[in-house]
Amino acid sequence: MTDMGLAVRSLEKSFGGVIAVNNLNFDLPVGQLLALIGPNGAGKSTSFNILNGQLKPTSGTVKFKGVELVGLSPKEIWRHGVGRTFQITATYASMTVCENVQMALLSYHRRLYSLLPIAARLYREEALALLEHVGMVDQENRPCSVLAYGDLKRVELAVALANNPTLLLMDEPTAGMAPKERIELMALTNKIVNERGISVLFTEHDMDVVFTHADRIIVLDRGTLVAEGTPEEVRNDEHVRRIYLGSHHA
Ligand code: ADP
Ligand code: MG
Repeated sequence: MTDMGLAVRSLEKSFGGVIAVNNLNFDLPVGQLLALIGPNGAGKSTSFNILNGQLKPTSGTVKFKGVELVGLSPKEIWRHGVGRTFQITATYASMTVCENVQMALLSYHRRLYSLLPIAARLYREEALALLEHVGMVDQENRPCSVLAYGDLKRVELAVALANNPTLLLMDEPTAGMAPKERIELMALTNKIVNERGISVLFTEHDMDVVFTHADRIIVLDRGTLVAEGTPEEVRNDEHVRRIYLGSHHA
C-alpha cells in the first residue's frame, strides 16, 4: 500500500437487503489510470459515490494520502484533492468556455461568486492554460451551449482540473459520445495524467477504450471484485469472459 495513493479496504454498502458493494479492496497508486468495470448494477456508481463522499459506506475504510475519507463531506474530500467531472448544467451553459473554467478556478481559490464582474480578468491566464491543455483554447469565447458534445466533455475535464486534483474520479465520462470521441477523450485524459502525475479512477462501457487506455482494471460483479490486473490479464480472465460473453458492452 502506498502512502500517497488511494487505499480502499473492506468497503461495504447495503441498501436494505441489496449488497451493492461487498468487501471491496483495491489500491490506486499515484499516476495510474484505473478502470472500474462490470455489468449494470455491479456497484460501480455506488463505489464512486462513497469515494466522493455523497454516500456513507455501511463499513470499511477509504484512505487517500494516509487520510481517512469516510465520514468527510464531499466538500472536505474535494479539498483533499479528490476531484470529479461534473456535467455543465443549463445555468452555466450560457457562459463561455473560458468563464466556466474561471468560475471553477475562483471556487478553487475560495473567492466568492459575487466577484464575477472582476472575475473576467481573474484567473484568465490560468483558465486559458487549462483550455490549452484540453485543446479548447480556440473556442474560449463560445458559450458552452453551442459546443459539440465531445468539446463540452473536454471543457468539463478542464473544469475538473481547475481544482488541481491529485485523484480524479470519472463515472462514465464518455457516456453519449461517439466511439471516435471516446478514444480521443481518454487519450487526452491519459496525456494529462502523465503530465500532471495525477491518478484517475474511471468507469467506461466501451471495452476498446478500457483495454486501450487503462493501466489497470478492476472488475465488479454484483458488488464483488471478481478480477483485477493489467488489460491483458483481465481480457483473458475466465470470469470476465463469462460476464462479457457475446457482448461488447458492460
Ligand atoms: P452500477 O453503477 O455498476 O451500474 P450501482 O452502483 O448504480 O451499479 O448499483 C448497484 C446496486 O445497488 C444495484 O442493485 C442498484 O439497484 C442498487 N442501488 C444503487 N443505489 C441505490 C439506492 N440509492 N437505493 C437502493 N438501491 C440502490
Ligand atoms: Mg453506474
